[in-house]
Amino acid sequence: MSTEVIIIGAGAAGLMCAIAAAKKGKRVKILEHANKAGKKILISGGGRCNFTNMYTEPKHYLCGNPHFCKSALSRYSPWDFVAEVDAAQLPWHEEKVGHLFSDNKSIAILNMLFDQCDALGVEIQLNCSVIHIAQTKNGGFKLDAVLKTTNSEHLYQCESLVIATGSLSFPTMGASDFGHRVAKQFGLNVTATAPGLVPLNFDAPEQKQFEELAGIHFHCTMACNGQSFSENLVFTHKGLSGPATLQVSSYWQPGDTVSVDCLPDHNLIDLLIQAQKDAPDKQLQTLLQAHLPQRFIASILLGTAAEKIDSLKPIKQCTHKEIELIAGLFHQWRFVPSGTAGYKKAEVTVGGVDTDEISSKNFEAKKVSGLYFIGEVLDVTGWLGGFNFQWAWASGRCCGEGL
Ligand SMILES: Cc1cc2nc3c(=O)[nH]c(=O)nc-3n(C[C@H](O)[C@H](O)[C@H](O)COP(=O)(O)OP(=O)(O)OC[C@H]3O[C@@H](n4cnc5c(N)ncnc54)[C@H](O)[C@@H]3O)c2cc1C
Repeated sequence: MSTEVIIIGAGAAGLMCAIAAAKKGKRVKILEHANKAGKKILISGGGRCNFTNMYTEPKHYLCGNPHFCKSALSRYSPWDFVAEVDAAQLPWHEEKVGHLFSDNKSIAILNMLFDQCDALGVEIQLNCSVIHIAQTKNGGFKLDAVLKTTNSEHLYQCESLVIATGSLSFPTMGASDFGHRVAKQFGLNVTATAPGLVPLNFDAPEQKQFEELAGIHFHCTMACNGQSFSENLVFTHKGLSGPATLQVSSYWQPGDTVSVDCLPDHNLIDLLIQAQKDAPDKQLQTLLQAHLPQRFIASILLGTAAEKIDSLKPIKQCTHKEIELIAGLFHQWRFVPSGTAGYKKAEVTVGGVDTDEISSKNFEAKKVSGLYFIGEVLDVTGWLGGFNFQWAWASGRCCGEGL
């Protein structure tokens, strides 16, 4: 029997779309190839689900067309999702600025979505791999699929087909290029993809220079390609992670230089000149250690022009030129990453189905009536901090309401 709406992918966007369409009275079926729905919701936010950001604005998204996400984000705001969380009586709280988390584990948010799907009669078929999609003569779609549990073949038919299969990041959680392949099959452009919100790896010289620093972290301002973020960075065994790095990674392209101000809240020149007056006998190293981890200071000074500066000498013996040199090293630390930690570790994928191909109102493909794309499969990538789920909820809801 033909279903009115088939959604491929039972993640954040797919579940939200199913709820919205079912509320309008549509018969909705979700086909999911994993053995569980909403796996990324479960692992998100360290298992606590940073489900939205209070201050969501279009500027928090990377997209080929910066206007594309405006309509959906304004029609389904963070407060609309909070209203659903409140209606389900789930406690939540704010962390950092505007990052909203579930007080309970992520499962509470996922169960809230499952409860709504159940109440509205949405069917979720797990372990279902769609092998082939074809348009029917009456404008609908025919899907050949295999149920992995029984290895049996199934034919599904629908009037509207929604692709909510996410993108390439975290393949262990069910991520696939399926959505991009479907887009290409129907003649839609897919923009170049890259891992986003991902650790950056050092090139060999920096890896050697910082090899002892894994675990060390501090507040910084990190910048790349005109975007900067003031957050923590964390050294890993291969390079850098932490929120500042993850944010910058979405803007980084191979060959680009990343610059780091390790003391964004201070002017090191002023600070050291003042120390020459107030504490002339203090060692340079002691003064820097008040602001940054000692091992990082040593690694930065090592192998640079500052190597010739004795960091144990009293600050009163430092020349202005030496002070300028030191300040430059810590305010403008620069490196060219050798790459990223890849899709295995990336929270999102930058790039995807070209938004020029899609209606920003209902997410239908402009060239293919009845075919819709929502969530991360699109070329819309949010910053860290709940923006990606907000995009999944907003695009899912606006698509579902328009079906
Ligand atoms: C470790 C981690 C932590 C994160 N934490 C946060 C956070 O706290 N806050 C935040 O805003 N964002 C977070 N994100 C990002 C967020 O999870 C995604 O942006 C969001 O899940 C995208 O929703 P989606 O529905 O488009 O895709 P997904 O949630 O990826 O859902 C896609 C679904 O489609 C299924 N699927 C894929 N291919 C097929 C196929 N061929 N056939 C059938 N089904 C298929 C998948 O199994 C999956 O269930 C995190 C991501 C990761 C990896």
